Amino acid sequence: MKIRRLLLGTLLAGALVLTSCAGMEQLVWEMDQAMGQASEQETASSDEAPMPRNVILIVGDGMGVPQVYASVVAALGDNSAFLRFPYTGFSRTYSRNKYRTDSAAGGTALTTGHKVDNYHVNWGPDSARYATLFDDAKAAGMSTGFVVTSSVLDATPASTYGHVPYRKMFDTLSLQLAQCGHDVMVGGGRKYFQPENRRDGLRPLDTLARRGYTVVNTMDSLVRFSGGKVLALLYEGDPLTAPARGDVLVHASKKAIALLARNPKGFAMMIEGSQIDWACHNNDSAYLRAELADFEQMLHAVIDFAQRDGNTLVVVTADHETGGVTLPDGDIAKGTNDVRFLWGSHTGCMVPVFALGPGAHYFSGIQENTAIPQKIRWLMGLGSEADD
Ligand SMILES: [Zn+2]
Repeated sequence: MKIRRLLLGTLLAGALVLTSCAGMEQLVWEMDQAMGQASEQETASSDEAPMPRNVILIVGDGMGVPQVYASVVAALGDNSAFLRFPYTGFSRTYSRNKYRTDSAAGGTALTTGHKVDNYHVNWGPDSARYATLFDDAKAAGMSTGFVVTSSVLDATPASTYGHVPYRKMFDTLSLQLAQCGHDVMVGGGRKYFQPENRRDGLRPLDTLARRGYTVVNTMDSLVRFSGGKVLALLYEGDPLTAPARGDVLVHASKKAIALLARNPKGFAMMIEGSQIDWACHNNDSAYLRAELADFEQMLHAVIDFAQRDGNTLVVVTADHETGGVTLPDGDIAKGTNDVRFLWGSHTGCMVPVFALGPGAHYFSGIQENTAIPQKIRWLMGLGSEADD
C-alpha cells in the first residue's frame, strides 16, 4: 500500500486529470510495471504522500474566478483569505449530459467522483447510487457533517447524503438525511420536515430523534449544544441573505468543526457558501459582495483552525460559475469592482481550486471536478467507492 501511494503520488503530481477509480487503478498498475519492484527500504526513505486526518471541502456555489477576484479586491491589500492558500488549480465542471452543470451534478462530482446528468444527486445511469467520500469517511470511523447557507435539502448539501434522480424530491431527501448518519448538519429548510408541508405526511424529525439527534432551531441553541448528533434547522425555509444573516456561516462552521474534531479518527465535512450562486442568478452585485465577504470570514476561520491543527486538508472550489461575471474595471485602493453579469444562469467555465494542508499540492493544475474527491479519498486512505 505504501508503494502504491508513493507511485500514485508521483503520478498525480504530474498528470492531474483522473476521471475514475478504474482509471486510477490502471495508472497505478502501469507505474508498478514501469518501476519494477521497489524495495521497502527505498519506499521508506522516499517522501511518502501526506495523510491528513481531517478534510474540509468548501464549496462557493457559483463561484468562478471573477467572483474570487472581486472578493480579493474588496478585502483590500493582502487581506483576502484566498491569498492564504499555497496551492491553486482549476476544475472542469461539465456534467455527464451538459456543458453547463447544475448544482446537483456538480455536487455529485465533488462528493462521489462521478459525472452524472444534471438534476441527479449521487444517482447514475441504471439507477446507480454512488457512494460519497463522506460515506467512506463514516465507514472508516470518522465523523462527518455539513454547514450551508441554503436549505439542508438543497442540491449541494444533498450531495453529501442523498441519492435521488431529481434534486427537488425534498420528501425523499429529508428521509435520506434522517438516515445518513452525519454528526452535524446546519442549514435552513425546517418546513420540509413538518408533516403538514409534505406529500407523504411522514415525520422525519421522529426518525432523527430515534436515531439520537438533537434538533435545534436557533444559533444560540447550536452554540450551546455539547454532545451527540445535531441537526440545526435555523430557518423555516431558505436562510436569510447576507448581510442580514449576520455571522451565521462563520459561527456555525466553527461550532461544527469543534464538534467534529472531537473524533480522534478525524472528520470529513462540507461547508457551502450557497448564496454566491443566488446573488449571481439575480445579477445583484451588492448581494454578491455581501455573500463573498461572509465567505471570506468563514474561510479565515477555517484556515486558522487548519493551521493550528496541522492535520487538516482544506480544499475550496465551486460546483460551477454563475452569471458569466466579469470585472471590466474597479478601484484597487478603494476595494471596489465594476461587476457585470452576462446573464442569470450558470456558465461552463473552469472554476478555481484552492488547497492548504497535508497533500494540498495534489490539487494544482487543471483537473476534472471528479478528481477532487478521488484525491481526497486517496490522500486520506479511504476505501474506493462501494457503489451499489
Ligand atoms: Zn445556480
